[in-house]
Amino acid sequence: MTTVALKDVSKIFPDGTVAVDNVSLDVNDGEFMVLLGPSGCGKSTVLRMVAGLEDPSVGAILLDGELANDLPPRERRIAMVFQDFALYPHMSVGDNIGFPLRLSRVEPTARGERVADVASALGIGDVLGRKPNQLSGGQRQRVAMGRAIVRRPGLFLMDEPLSNLDSGLRAELRAEISGLVRELGVSTIYVTHDQAEALTMADRVAIMRRGVLQDVGTPTQVYGRPATLYVAAFLGSPRMNLLEASVYVHLDRYVTLNLGEQAIYLPWDDIRARAVAHYHGERIVIGMRAEALTPVAPNSPGDVLQGRIRYLEHHGHESLAFLDIGATAVVVDEMGQAPAEPANEGGALRRFGHAVQRLTSRTSGAD
Ligand code: ATP
Repeated sequence: MTTVALKDVSKIFPDGTVAVDNVSLDVNDGEFMVLLGPSGCGKSTVLRMVAGLEDPSVGAILLDGELANDLPPRERRIAMVFQDFALYPHMSVGDNIGFPLRLSRVEPTARGERVADVASALGIGDVLGRKPNQLSGGQRQRVAMGRAIVRRPGLFLMDEPLSNLDSGLRAELRAEISGLVRELGVSTIYVTHDQAEALTMADRVAIMRRGVLQDVGTPTQVYGRPATLYVAAFLGSPRMNLLEASVYVHLDRYVTLNLGEQAIYLPWDDIRARAVAHYHGERIVIGMRAEALTPVAPNSPGDVLQGRIRYLEHHGHESLAFLDIGATAVVVDEMGQAPAEPANEGGALRRFGHAVQRLTSRTSGAD
């Protein structure tokens, strides 16, 4: 439908705030791209620049390969959905959805048909005659979506469209929105600070921090192989365990990662050994997801680390064990296994399995 390309885009506001700092990002045809990051990281400013509501201070914005920096918003074939829905209170649901068609002078019969189609796709066909104040929050959001979709834009821009809803409805609507958008095949940029939303809805996620793009990739890529320490620590709950280690490559071809009093041994045929070998003699940070660690009995043989359990947390579907390995706090997902009792914790061992996921950065590059 529409491709978007940001090339070295920065936005510096008149008061000197650098809201967006040299961002380059491509959104492919029909792609669902989520911009994720904490409050104030510049997500909305990126969206507003793509919409034409803010001018970039530096850099180029291309729509379908054409420079769009000076293109007025109404010529961009873009529909926006915001968190406050912005429905017209005095108009019926049907008139709200059909409003963009009325503006572009689509005649009433065709307008009515399009509105009915969109409303039935969104499951609000039976409330077309109501006013917005007679709707639930979820229905109002569907009306806002309907109004965005009805003109068949080339690009959707959505800024936290679910943030005012309760969590059950949010989960329901996120599947609905991403399903609908994919069905329509419309390219989308979706802004959120909610990582569950980002990871479940996105084709690709772009993670920002303080105006700077940190990482772009599929949900699996950014979760499993984060590009920076910031992304490693930001994504996932519980947070990724980050341990400092020094790398030592032994001449008879194996690698040890020394974590103070303990070490991880990696034989040369383990790809992780070769991945870290060129850091020989240096300190690095290794990242291990809680779910990649397996609890084993004290004194188990093999690829194990010893930790002291501080406390256990039961979440119904999983149990988390918080423990100290040397001076570092680590969390392990016990994945439904009978949790070890803190009373037995004396020499609990935790095996690494596939856990040493990736060298995220040299320690000197730590955040
Ligand atoms: P949120 O999730 O809270 O909406 P965000 O990631 O969308 O945050 P932006 O709204 O893009 O962030 O803001 C990025 C930075 O730019 C913030 O520090 C914000 O205070 C600043 N900012 C936004 N608009 C202006 C403006 N008109 N003038 C000066 N600074 C601004």
